[in-house]
Amino acid sequence: MCGIVGYIGKRQVLPILIKGLKRLEYRGYDSAGVAFFHQEEIKLQKSVGRIQELEKKLDYSLSSHIGIGHTRWATHGKVTIMNSHPHQIGKITIVHNGIIENYLTLKKELESKGYLFQTETDTEVACALIDWIKKNNSSLKMVDVLNEAMKKLKGSYAIVVMVQDEQDKLYVMKKESPLVIGIGKEEYFVASDFSAYLDDTKDYIILEDNEIGVTSMDNVSIYQNGILKDYVVKTLNEEVEIATKGEQEHYMMKEIKEQSQLIQKWNTLYFDQKEKLPDITSYQRIHIVACGTAYHAGLIGKYLLEKNTDFEVNVYVASEYRYQKNFLDKNTLVIAISQSGETADTLACVKMAKEKGATTLGIINVYNSSIARVVDFVIYTHAGCEVAVASTKAYTSQVYVLGLLALEYQSKKEKKNTYQELPVKINKLMEYDYSTIVKHLYQKKDIFYLGRNIDYVSMLEGSLKLKEITYIHSESFPAGELKHGPISLIEEDTPVIALITHEETAAKTISNIKEVKARGAYVVLIIEDGIVDSIDKNCYDEVIYLPKTDEYTCPILSIIPLQLIAYYTAKKKNLDIDKPRNLAKSVTVE
Ligand code: GLU
Repeated sequence: MCGIVGYIGKRQVLPILIKGLKRLEYRGYDSAGVAFFHQEEIKLQKSVGRIQELEKKLDYSLSSHIGIGHTRWATHGKVTIMNSHPHQIGKITIVHNGIIENYLTLKKELESKGYLFQTETDTEVACALIDWIKKNNSSLKMVDVLNEAMKKLKGSYAIVVMVQDEQDKLYVMKKESPLVIGIGKEEYFVASDFSAYLDDTKDYIILEDNEIGVTSMDNVSIYQNGILKDYVVKTLNEEVEIATKGEQEHYMMKEIKEQSQLIQKWNTLYFDQKEKLPDITSYQRIHIVACGTAYHAGLIGKYLLEKNTDFEVNVYVASEYRYQKNFLDKNTLVIAISQSGETADTLACVKMAKEKGATTLGIINVYNSSIARVVDFVIYTHAGCEVAVASTKAYTSQVYVLGLLALEYQSKKEKKNTYQELPVKINKLMEYDYSTIVKHLYQKKDIFYLGRNIDYVSMLEGSLKLKEITYIHSESFPAGELKHGPISLIEEDTPVIALITHEETAAKTISNIKEVKARGAYVVLIIEDGIVDSIDKNCYDEVIYLPKTDEYTCPILSIIPLQLIAYYTAKKKNLDIDKPRNLAKSVTVE
């Protein structure tokens, strides 16, 4: 959610800022802007929409060696050029990621001091606050000005500041929003995450909460509470890649396709003991907290863990968990699942759980991300960089890891074969021709997904995929719940997609499909091969057979046709599949 970049060094700043912003595009944004020093003046340029629009406005002949850039994901105020960043007041120019929660109170105070605000944003208020403190405390160094501002700002922020009088410096400050400083040769980079400047440097300082950083052409210093402190430079390992689409039209398709190769990689990592999983047997209760797709992975984890161990596992949406009674104590294990490792609500849950004495385990894709750094134990999911906003391979990797956690209680070796057969089975599902189904779906307003038990959870994820990228309303229901209300929504040609992978409930779900079919629904049945002796052909319009597998690997196979149905439907609608409207990849605000 939102990207921040900054550069100070000998090279021309504009191409570097634009390159960084493009690399951070995947985080999601609706407008963009840059600010840079040119002949002692701070120049601003902003645009609504894609970075290409901003590029069109830039004059690359303006020489500059220091600047900041921003992709905004609006939280306060409409998507307009005026509201987009950078914001400038007096001598201060800033970009900001996050939310200033007390901005209205501060705004009133500052208005009474004579400040006039031109935008609806919380960011402009932070900018004015910094300007006010600087103006009224002329003896304070800029670091101390920012330290005073930090004391007043409530909420979450990663902020980069340019000051008119200090043309050789960039200042950064952060609380609960990610920010890193990349160290090059006589040059420094600032970014929301490593991916912005991976080809320029692999050496980074990860800013911690309440720290302020100062970069100049040849130096970087970190302060906390106004006091200079030591910092650690982390060198990234080779596992961090710069993602490219390869031959695919969209990152999403590339990432869906990658899943079968990734399974092979994970099989080597996890079955050949290269990656050790933590022992989770010594806790009385297990809570899984996550948001969105990761929450669905957590629900799959609950099914697998409860079915195969003696634990009761509860799964919570992180933004709810934070504000409810949770019975957290030292006998609780809190498992936090997040692709980016920056999900604000999940991170807050982890911090709360730790404060209450619980043990925390992260299932995280992005190395060294905020959650990965805070938890007691981390399992990296090794899914590689996921660019498409709609998560596919990261979800599969989370389901894979949770399955293995459950498998630790059975003979893992016995299961190796089923895992090794997965790539071939996934490829088979990739080859299926989804065009007839898509033709029926793409103009519809509502689509329903049905399943029982673990299939219901897979359908929650399938339905979310569809919503995210096709903008078609869809819902997933436990098949048995239909009669208790939702069946009233079924009319002639309403699409209903049903998933059946378990023999014990197959007959019941087939009856539910017949009920919707009798009311005119267009039914797509996804069913595990050989699960029932024969299916009445009148109960579906299209059928997709899932290759036979076991309960651990089944949710990995089930999700493939659902991802593909969503993808091809969005493609038929000609939508921006990788960057769906209003969505951000890494949800760093609460
Ligand atoms: N709250 C700020 C705004 O709405 C920053 C949003 C962001 O993180 O992009 O402008």
